Amino acid sequence: MGFKKILVVGESGPNGLRPESLEAVTAAHELAHASGAELAGAVIGAEADGAAQTMAATGLSTVYLSNDARLTTDLPITKALAIVVETSGADVVILAGTTTGRDVAARLGARLNAAVASDVVGLDTDGTDVIAQRSVLGGKAQVAVTLKGDPARIISLRPGSWAKAPDDQGAGAVVPVAVELNDNDTRVRVEGFETSGETGGVKLQDADTIVAGGRGLKEAQNFEIIERLAEALGGAVAASRAVVDAGWRPHHEQIGQTGQSVTPRLYIAIGISGAVQHNVGMQGSEYIVAINRDPDAPIFKLASFGIVGDLFDVIPALTAELAS
Ligand SMILES: Cc1cc2nc3c(=O)[nH]c(=O)nc-3n(C[C@H](O)[C@H](O)[C@H](O)COP(=O)(O)OP(=O)(O)OC[C@H]3O[C@@H](n4cnc5c(N)ncnc54)[C@H](O)[C@@H]3O)c2cc1C
Repeated sequence: MGFKKILVVGESGPNGLRPESLEAVTAAHELAHASGAELAGAVIGAEADGAAQTMAATGLSTVYLSNDARLTTDLPITKALAIVVETSGADVVILAGTTTGRDVAARLGARLNAAVASDVVGLDTDGTDVIAQRSVLGGKAQVAVTLKGDPARIISLRPGSWAKAPDDQGAGAVVPVAVELNDNDTRVRVEGFETSGETGGVKLQDADTIVAGGRGLKEAQNFEIIERLAEALGGAVAASRAVVDAGWRPHHEQIGQTGQSVTPRLYIAIGISGAVQHNVGMQGSEYIVAINRDPDAPIFKLASFGIVGDLFDVIPALTAELAS
């Protein structure tokens, strides 16, 4: 076997461990199982104790933790991760493909002179190397790449490609790793966070249910019926790019290749055709319900359940039924 130890990296967010990291844990467990390689976790961040505890409860016997208030940007995070890779002796590093994860994977690859694969949707081994399936051309095709690596192979995963690992598997050990940071490492500082377009409703990334509207809504004010359905279901509102480009909804609600990737339990696509660039952002949802008046709309190929009908009839009837 050409690799002996896998390190899966958990990302600490404002609500503890980010959900995409639990998907990375599942992928890492699968690769460890297929290869017989050892598996450990790592969490690098500021106020990252909680995230490390959650990682340690996902069936990982060891989680390396580098916790420092300055670990908020890619530069120091990459340095700390490189030290953890060395400390742990890992030769495969798996990260969730969040904005930070993708950037850190590339930086770590450059720092360690290691092979890097991004947008990975499948992992396997040929007995010696890691074989990564990469999603390319906006999700239209997949390519298999072999990562030969010394000192390491770095992999960032496409969100929504694996199920989330359960975090009730007992408590592994959290091992602190000291990292010395200098002025050069921290030359980029985060002065504060501002959430754009906060609506006070359920946040997309936290939502179990997402109700998404597309160009079939015809105009901005018709999104009221989407909002009402989302409220009745306790879910969040999302949109296709056509709608965002038209200025009907804010960009932070956009799902897809150039928007957000989400993996809720239920995704309801209303008046959305199902373009590949939209689908890549929601196809990991557990159940997809499509409502469209065109029976040949591509979205129905992806849907677990479909309703062929006029959304202006179907949605108010559905909302009224839920409210009664
Ligand atoms: C580089 C690139 C990146 C992109 N990134 C994204 C992205 O991140 N996210 C994204 O969403 N798109 C993205 N797109 C755009 C994408 O290709 C589609 O154009 C877009 O998703 C279409 O949005 P839509 O489904 O709302 O509109 P349309 O394709 O116009 O579909 C509207 C649907 O509504 C249905 N409909 C109309 N009236 C009714 C009615 N009364 N009742 C029921 N159904 C009705 C129609 O049958 C149709 O299927 C990208 C494109 C490119 C080239």
